[in-house]
Amino acid sequence: MDNSIVVRFAPSPTGPLHIGGARSALFNWLLARKHGGRMIVRIEDTDLDRSSIESEENILDSLLWLGLDWDEGIAKGGEHGPYRQTERLNTYTQAAGRLLDSGQAYYCYCTEEELAAEREACMAKGDLPRYLGKCRSLSEDERNRLEAEGRKKVIRFRVPDNENVIVQDLVRGNVIFESNGIGDYVIVKSDGIPTYNFAVVLDDALMKVTHVIRGEEHLSNTPRQLLLYNALGLRAPYFAHVSLILGKDRSKMSKRHGSTSIEEYRSKGYLPEALVNFLALLGWSPVGEEEIFTLQELVEQFSLDRVAKNPAVFDIDKLNWLNGSYIRNSDVGRITDMAIPFLREAGYITGEITPDSYEWLKMIVASVQEKLEYVAQITDHVKVYFDDHVKMENEAAGAVLKELEVSEVMRAFRRKITEAEELTPESTKGLLKALTKELKLGGKKVYMPLRVALTGQTHGPELFYIIPVLGRDRVLVRLAQTVGLKD
Ligand code: GLU
Repeated sequence: MDNSIVVRFAPSPTGPLHIGGARSALFNWLLARKHGGRMIVRIEDTDLDRSSIESEENILDSLLWLGLDWDEGIAKGGEHGPYRQTERLNTYTQAAGRLLDSGQAYYCYCTEEELAAEREACMAKGDLPRYLGKCRSLSEDERNRLEAEGRKKVIRFRVPDNENVIVQDLVRGNVIFESNGIGDYVIVKSDGIPTYNFAVVLDDALMKVTHVIRGEEHLSNTPRQLLLYNALGLRAPYFAHVSLILGKDRSKMSKRHGSTSIEEYRSKGYLPEALVNFLALLGWSPVGEEEIFTLQELVEQFSLDRVAKNPAVFDIDKLNWLNGSYIRNSDVGRITDMAIPFLREAGYITGEITPDSYEWLKMIVASVQEKLEYVAQITDHVKVYFDDHVKMENEAAGAVLKELEVSEVMRAFRRKITEAEELTPESTKGLLKALTKELKLGGKKVYMPLRVALTGQTHGPELFYIIPVLGRDRVLVRLAQTVGLKD
């Protein structure tokens, strides 16, 4: 493989970008970037009822957010445009005309009811429902009569009899389909719009696509497409069908197993690089044990021969683990920026953010950063900072404050923070160390009562964050409240 590789991602804009679509886009992108090839994005919008510009925008936006760019295509241009199928109707009409002229396609006048009856008859005999060729060899007279009746017509491709169509799949090996099981299929609908199987062939050929990586659900379309490449005298690309994505219970991935669209993950505060990392592992396996990869590392290591035939299992716990690991290793400023909308929505931030309050928010985020699997969870962890009415969370917490040494610890602590010139996480660490040393009680006997006195909880962010986040005044307020310590 060399730099003449051309891949494409060709979504139908009938909904937001899905996990499965994003994975196809990623695999295509990785193959192109690895080999210095080109990536095209084309919009397959021939389903007029279900396609929308909002979906198109969502898909493009999500791709860019994931870091998957393209060299040619929609919103970018290029020499093979336009890149929206509804803007290419001429191309399909002309090609259909050629197939009609050569007898490789024909007009079919069957009505919906006739077709439904035929499908039922097939099934009643235990056969696959398919078109049996009623209009295959209409005489001129019959055609004229049907036209005169004003019947709607579609164009069907005449599937050659008794052929084995072999899909040479780069992931699955040779997959053989019998042409007799296919039935003549529609290539142009009665409104003049091409079907997916027809348009995709012309576009992939005219856009000089060399490799088509897509989901396994398209495998059964591929023999239909190969027959059309043949009939049109066009060269077929290499195909690679990536396995389905299943939930942990082995049923097809659905909402029950976790969010299915990229935008939902984005809006919960997942990091794009974590999601990309996760998507790469849905069907592709790296050589070693390592599971964390940057996009660049994926480009270097990706290869189609390590893409598995068997289904990939979507494991939300793994995604959360990966995302948590990316969050821990991210710059605190970045996570703070992501956290602000969630904190605002929860009512923890009101009003403008000043440079000082931003620094304060950063301290809050740093104190819980390692606990987050995704950024939206931050609101579960920061309540202690915002509610000055400290309540004991349970009996165990209350019991901590009844221990003998508590009042000595509190008084010494109060003195120390009253004297402290500044309160930063660093200086607080020093202060707590000095305090422990002075009291000769051992860390736990000092930290636990302080934690409970300041938050009412026996667990939570590190004390050296809690204290500077609250600041001296609020610390004193809380001490007065929980342990009755006043001047
Ligand atoms: N428009 C098709 C889809 O979204 C793409 C199929 C293909 O990649 O050939 O499923």
